[in-house]
Amino acid sequence: MQKGNISVQTENIFPIIKKFLYSDQEIFLRELISNAIDATNKIKSLSSRGEYKGELGDLTIEVKLDKKAKTLTISDKGIGMSEEEVGKYLNQIAISSAQEFVEKYKDEANIIGKFGLGFYSAFMVADKVEVNTKSWKEDEKAVLWTCEGNPDFTIKRSKKKSRGTDIILHISDDSNEFLEESRIEELLNKYCKFLPIEIKFGTKKETIEEGEGDNKKEKEIEVDNIINNPNPAWKKSPSELTDEDYKNFYKELYPYTFESPLFWIHLNIDYPFDLTGILYFPKLNNTLEVQKNKIHLYSNQVYVTDEVKEIVPEFLTLLHGVIDSPDIPLNVSRSYLQSDSNVRKITGYITKKVADKLNDLFKKQREEYESKWGDLGVFVKYGMLSDDKFAEKAMDFVLLKNVDGQFFTVKDYEEKVKAAQTDKHDRIVFLYTQNAEEHHSLVEAAKGRGYDVLLMDNPIDPHFMQHLEHKTGKVTFVRVDSDTLDNLVQKDEKKESVLSEKEQETVKAVFEKIAKGKQGATVELKPLSPDDQPIQITRNEFMRRMKDMQALGGGGGFLGGGMGDMYNVVVNTNHPFIAEKLLKAKEGEEREKLGKHLFDLALLNHGMLKGADLSAFVKKSLEFLK
Ligand code: ADP
Repeated sequence: MQKGNISVQTENIFPIIKKFLYSDQEIFLRELISNAIDATNKIKSLSSRGEYKGELGDLTIEVKLDKKAKTLTISDKGIGMSEEEVGKYLNQIAISSAQEFVEKYKDEANIIGKFGLGFYSAFMVADKVEVNTKSWKEDEKAVLWTCEGNPDFTIKRSKKKSRGTDIILHISDDSNEFLEESRIEELLNKYCKFLPIEIKFGTKKETIEEGEGDNKKEKEIEVDNIINNPNPAWKKSPSELTDEDYKNFYKELYPYTFESPLFWIHLNIDYPFDLTGILYFPKLNNTLEVQKNKIHLYSNQVYVTDEVKEIVPEFLTLLHGVIDSPDIPLNVSRSYLQSDSNVRKITGYITKKVADKLNDLFKKQREEYESKWGDLGVFVKYGMLSDDKFAEKAMDFVLLKNVDGQFFTVKDYEEKVKAAQTDKHDRIVFLYTQNAEEHHSLVEAAKGRGYDVLLMDNPIDPHFMQHLEHKTGKVTFVRVDSDTLDNLVQKDEKKESVLSEKEQETVKAVFEKIAKGKQGATVELKPLSPDDQPIQITRNEFMRRMKDMQALGGGGGFLGGGMGDMYNVVVNTNHPFIAEKLLKAKEGEEREKLGKHLFDLALLNHGMLKGADLSAFVKKSLEFLK
């Protein structure tokens, strides 16, 4: 028997470990199983190189729970350790590097928890740890190392006959949760689901069929409960995988999701960094926040985290799937991670891959691409707003949809409308509505003149339109109700009013009196065509858009609430109802009544007549009919 003292110069490392890592205690299991995987992989490679000549045998790693003895054991059949190696690896190096590590990053407990303490994380949950190990080298004797959560350890001979290592954790009283089968199962599922060596945790029942024909019987048998899939889809070559395989893997990753992904990208690169993975485009609809941050980050099939914000550009956090890269430095601070050149390269690579894939789909499967645009659109627009490089590429495949359900690229759409829709400042006017139902009469009026109207109904669209205006420099988006169509689109419109100045004043006075009772209404007279509506409601594009963006939490807050609710009441002085009927009506009550009715009709046409006003209008209309 040998006794010794773990070489730590300053105070005891164990309380430090416990204190700083408290919030992430559970990672001990991942650390210990990772070591077991490493040891197993090493014996496999020694064997394949012919250095190890014995039988490899079954290499399954086993996790065992003994509630009575209050122990959790992790056993592998890997290379094991000799007495000398135990001394070297478990006593000195590990502990001093652990201490250095904790000292250095004590303000970033989160990071330490994510990776790096290795074997010593066992002391987060155990007050005594035993390592029973036998080296793969024939002439080395098995040893048992014991340490009771203080710098003192013992090493003695062990009776262990087979190659490999058992790590026996005597779970401390305040970590009782790790003696619960369900808790361990949960952790194995979280951290070990795709580790490359089979991991067994107890047994489970399975029904099999026995016998032939009439003698066929169902029988229940007990089989090993293997908790992982050692050969996950992202490690395979894309040529080996069918669409069905990709969809099944999606289900494996997100067992509680019922939706299928729209499509996927298989990432596979080995130079200048090593990265594999599969990224899925989920159905997004408008549930951006719910869908975010679902990418799992792995390092050589070991689960690390769901927080990939520092590794992929913000808009790509909308994607789902797996990224596996041993080249992402995990034991460094978050701010460092973003400036790390490898990480920056990875970010660039993923962005490019995603853009290429979209471009490819658009070019080769345009119909399918368009049919998925409802989900894809949000993602592409969000990406364009948040990433310049992506925005540049996406100009080729971002789509505009008109009220008739046709799709166009920005360039194609410019070409389509350029001739008819150019304004006084020579900008191409992209007419749009957010709600084709509500703007039905305006949309029809625009179409009647040979204009086209886009449907921009996503909450992200106000920002997106601003982006396009800025990028193209020659396009202006205007909502169909932001001014009269003539004013919006035509270049040199000079119409005369059929009314004299005096008559116009009379008309204006009538409507100003009515508008007084309505909040935010301003009256304006315009000599439009007699075929246009007698009264139109318009809203200033700038003010309204600011309000939309404000609602989204973007800029425009300076306008204060309410500003966007302002509207213009445009009275068409050339319409017969105004030019003749209204002026001929008896001054006073009769004229006012007619004016009010026209005004209400305009409000009704814009879906702005509601509640008591609407009831009054219906009542009044019935009286008219009498
Ligand atoms: P790391 O794994 O980062 O090197 P650890 O503290 O986890 O740090 O482990 C220190 C060393 O102990 C390992 O490098 C390995 O040589 C040895 N070791 C740990 N666990 C095992 C095991 N299950 N089988 C064989 N060797 C092991």
